[in-house]
Amino acid sequence: MKKILLIDDEPTSRVLLHRALEKHGWNVLQASDGESGLQLAFAEKPQVVVCDLLMPRTNGFHVCERLRAQPDLFPNGKIIVTSSSDYDSDRRNAMQAGADEYLIKPVRAEQLLKLLERYHLDGAPAAPPPPPGSQSDGGGISLKFWGVRGSIPTPGASTLYYGGNTSCVEIRVDGELMILDAGTGIRSLGLSLIEEFKDQPISLTLLITHTHWDHIQGFPFFPVAYNPRNNIRVLAFEGARKSLEATLSSQMESPYFPISMQQMPGNIRIEELKDKKFTVGKVQVEAMFTNHPGICACFKLTTAVGVVVYIPDNELLQRLRASKDVRNVERSDSQEFARERDQALCEFIRNADVVMMDCQYDCIEYPKYVGWGHSCVDDSIALAVDANVKRFFLFHHDPGHNDAKITAMVDEARALVARLGGSFQVDAAREGLEVVVKPA
Ligand SMILES: [Zn+2]
Ligand SMILES: [Zn+2]
Repeated sequence: MKKILLIDDEPTSRVLLHRALEKHGWNVLQASDGESGLQLAFAEKPQVVVCDLLMPRTNGFHVCERLRAQPDLFPNGKIIVTSSSDYDSDRRNAMQAGADEYLIKPVRAEQLLKLLERYHLDGAPAAPPPPPGSQSDGGGISLKFWGVRGSIPTPGASTLYYGGNTSCVEIRVDGELMILDAGTGIRSLGLSLIEEFKDQPISLTLLITHTHWDHIQGFPFFPVAYNPRNNIRVLAFEGARKSLEATLSSQMESPYFPISMQQMPGNIRIEELKDKKFTVGKVQVEAMFTNHPGICACFKLTTAVGVVVYIPDNELLQRLRASKDVRNVERSDSQEFARERDQALCEFIRNADVVMMDCQYDCIEYPKYVGWGHSCVDDSIALAVDANVKRFFLFHHDPGHNDAKITAMVDEARALVARLGGSFQVDAAREGLEVVVKPA
């Protein structure tokens, strides 16, 4: 029989819901404070706990946290928090504490029954449905480009083919939905996710390489972040001056944007990365700091199927140091240091299945932009040939490059691969392009 536990210190709301639920075949348990509610939940293992927020002896936030902390005693159970508070911060904190739903009081019985119907509970604890799309990768890695431009969006007739949105790449692997950077491309990605998931909650991990505008500017327009049922985990290293959270929220302060980051209704968990190696589900992630103004990382995702590396912003050091002497450093020391640093990146991408890499300039243009933090395509390609990668995408296209110019750069890059004895496929990243890495 379906079992539900009502925890609330107000007997009237409990009694009304109790009657309606019983009529619909539920075995209803009641508790009048948080502590006795927890005891009952662990002893009786109901499929659903409906819990008030403000209660004596353990409030609703802590009830959620403690239920979620004991998955063996409360396996896959749903938690519905009820509250008289309509403050966004209370809603957000409840969802972060582990609630599945947040209902404002008074809660009508029909409303609760309708919600319970959605859970499809039939006596057995409900397993969470697999996220839509997680199947579509067929056990491989699916990658889709939503923004491929560097620096600033460049819409217009001359950029229609490759696209004008700034950096954003979607990755699906091992049941994880991951997003690399939140440039303006993330808006269309969000709309597409909402279309796909319909009324199912969306959980995803957003990895941000650095907080330059072209990598975060889309976030205020990411529609997934406006639904309290969605969970967004944001991972990046701390900013050069302020914390990650302060840097991300400052672009939404009132002179720049009408809604603050704290007011976004989605469950947004911002985590400053401490280690260069960490995991997202079964995906092993390794970060490396790149040569770019401020704090900037690149990410390598290692999965059972293959390896994907994302290096949107990086100026390879050998050409930089050959073009420019460094104060107080001997030229020969400087160049040896540059060689070692570039070699370390070469090892980082070695044998990768897919590499997306900064190729903002060609080698004729580069001398005008020495020290701007971006590479020329020749150097990135040479590194990829040395590293024996399997597939390469020119990424972070210069806002001054139209479709014809990018196509010409791809042609040059392919010729260079052949000249250097490489044999991998080279393309320019293009909005809407999907790439699948199949299991070997
Ligand atoms: Zn950039
Ligand atoms: Zn940058």
